[in-house]
Amino acid sequence: MPVKIVKRVDGNKKPTDGFDPDANYQMVPLGSTREMFVESGEFRAELAVKGSTAVTAMSNFRVLLAGSNLPASLPGPNLFVQKVTIPERTLVQFTLTGGNVGMTVIQGKDLPNARPPAAKPNFQLLVSVKRQEMRFFTVCYLFDRINRDKRARLPIAELLNDVNAVFEQQTNFSVRNIDGPAASTLAAKTLTIDGSVGKKFNVYDKKLVGRVIDAFNLKFPNLFSTTHGVIFVLPVPITAREGKIIDDSNVAINMKARRKVDNRSFNIVFVGSVLNKDFTDLRHGLAHEIGHSFGLDHNTQINLMFPSLDIKSKRLNFNQIEIMHLMGPQFRQVDY
Ligand SMILES: [Zn+2]
Repeated sequence: MPVKIVKRVDGNKKPTDGFDPDANYQMVPLGSTREMFVESGEFRAELAVKGSTAVTAMSNFRVLLAGSNLPASLPGPNLFVQKVTIPERTLVQFTLTGGNVGMTVIQGKDLPNARPPAAKPNFQLLVSVKRQEMRFFTVCYLFDRINRDKRARLPIAELLNDVNAVFEQQTNFSVRNIDGPAASTLAAKTLTIDGSVGKKFNVYDKKLVGRVIDAFNLKFPNLFSTTHGVIFVLPVPITAREGKIIDDSNVAINMKARRKVDNRSFNIVFVGSVLNKDFTDLRHGLAHEIGHSFGLDHNTQINLMFPSLDIKSKRLNFNQIEIMHLMGPQFRQVDY
């Protein structure tokens, strides 16, 4: 066996920290660290940064499983190297540091004793150092004359903390709820609009969406311009009705509304009222919709962006992490 990256060392816990095993990709936050695991085979092996050496360094080597040869001294916690040789049949854990924003490659290569190493590396690890991005959200409960405030609130602050963990660990995007714990209490923002939202809230009813936005702007000026998005909690279920197509399957939906008179855009997540008791659907739905608000499309593989509530994967792949940091937000757009 040649030298290889070990995808999981703790048995059952799937990685959630920005490692994409399919692409041999590791996101490292700028100024922070991520752990890697590499196992050598029958030969000693060299790990070397082959791309830009300013992006990352390796340090803090720990031998988890030693082969027959006692390991030569490997770089400790305060030694940062671009190249290291590990003994044969040894499993090491080491720390990658995020030195500068950018991408680089770490190559792993066997060092056979009797012959020169192969020209081709045995593995390549793409290391991508990303700066921290902050995205602010506010929460507002919506009522009307028929659906009055019965003083029930969702644990939305807690759910947004969970959503933050999904994105922060994997992508270095922080999801900040500017209302804090108040978003889950009677101190949360509320809005009562004149018109009735009816029995179901049709997210493609342009007039209705426009009324909600204008009423929110009147009561909470500047909040749309200082946040990434507003999460409206509806008193009724969501429907997405466009012509003959009716989709009643959403616990939440993200959209960008464009006001025709001034071309201003508003980024919204609507949360409907049909939710399972332990909020697992809403927790996943919120993370998925916030993923849309960060520019992510649906994914055909099982993933956070797989379009089904039955599969609640938190994983994001290497492409999605890169897209989030490269692209501006993309939305389903509704003009009003
Ligand atoms: Zn979706």
